[in-house]
Amino acid sequence: MQNKKIWLSSPHMGSNEFKFVKEAFDTNWIAPLGPNVDGFEKDIVEFTKTGYAAALSSGTSALHLALILLGVGHDDEVICQSFTFSASANPIVYQGATPIFVDSENETWNMCPVQLRIAIEDRLKKGKKPKAILPVHLYGMPAKMDEIIKVANEFQIPIIEDAAEALGSSINQKQCGTFGEIGVLSFNGNKIITTSGGGAMISSTEAHVSKARFLATQARDNAPHYQHSHIGYNYRMSNICAGIGRGQMEVLPARIQKRRENHAFYQNELAELKGVSFLLEPNGFFSNRWLSCILVDPSKTNGITREDIRISLEKLNIECRPLWKPMHMQPIFENSPFYGNKVAEKLFENGLCLPSGSNLETQELNAVVNAIKACFA
Ligand SMILES: *Cc1c(COP(=O)(O)O)cnc(C)c1O
Repeated sequence: MQNKKIWLSSPHMGSNEFKFVKEAFDTNWIAPLGPNVDGFEKDIVEFTKTGYAAALSSGTSALHLALILLGVGHDDEVICQSFTFSASANPIVYQGATPIFVDSENETWNMCPVQLRIAIEDRLKKGKKPKAILPVHLYGMPAKMDEIIKVANEFQIPIIEDAAEALGSSINQKQCGTFGEIGVLSFNGNKIITTSGGGAMISSTEAHVSKARFLATQARDNAPHYQHSHIGYNYRMSNICAGIGRGQMEVLPARIQKRRENHAFYQNELAELKGVSFLLEPNGFFSNRWLSCILVDPSKTNGITREDIRISLEKLNIECRPLWKPMHMQPIFENSPFYGNKVAEKLFENGLCLPSGSNLETQELNAVVNAIKACFA
């Protein structure tokens, strides 16, 4: 057994995170506002080439506020990619609305534009127009935004883009998170960069982002006393966490490059294994390769399954994880409608996320590759 655990995706600090945090201490800006929050927001705006950003306590809170801003309320319906982490869908339920789940397509593993149209047309026939469409750029691979936007525009439904896993990913140089009415980023501990915990809302519409800041700080009206005409939330990012974020933004390009190198390494080394395949970038698509994933087709591997590989790697202290279990297969969402076939189900059945951190050493990557090859020996 390997002594040191090989992690799926662990935090990777640069050199200036601590400097920004120390500045916050030195100036006593230990609050959910301050120069680091402003500076981090500015960094995000510059990197994503969007108009505005609000630093928040998590990606989940950013999604929640996005739904509120688009007027999603009780008994409304929101179309959501089924193949995702539950944090994409949970905020829909926080608002008392119903998620309508849509299957993925095989080229990006994200929301299928064809099934999206079928879902919208059927919901309209049943008497309700969905309030928003929520595609996800899973594992850093951009969704087919051109086609999704076309459908969304045709039916005049706004898009909330869950780019929690896709900071730095793009389509024809346009950054993920900037395609929809509102984009959402996450800086949780396992993401491509981290603030230990945190998120952001980005938008080209100033009103969305300033309203998000207002709601995220308990919705205080402009008065000397505490005056409220909206329900507020405590969703702002602290100036300490934002300090970590500012340091992380300096190394983001290097983190993206290393994650992409990890993916290329796995692709090269495992090319010889029949029945093991990777998700390729469609033309013009650029993935940050947040996680490197493989699909294992037992009909071509002499019966070796994803689970066989996962279990033997686990025994070697190598952390791997099946791809996300689709939301329409989750007990908590069993009453939510689903439109699609078996694409997401198949991905869940055959897919495995490999260790993908930007701090992985060559020797660790070799250990992963050797462990997988040993399953086929
Ligand atoms: C991580 C993640 C979120 C939630 O972000 P948090 O910052 O953890 O709240 C939402 N959607 C997806 C797809 C994620 O991977």
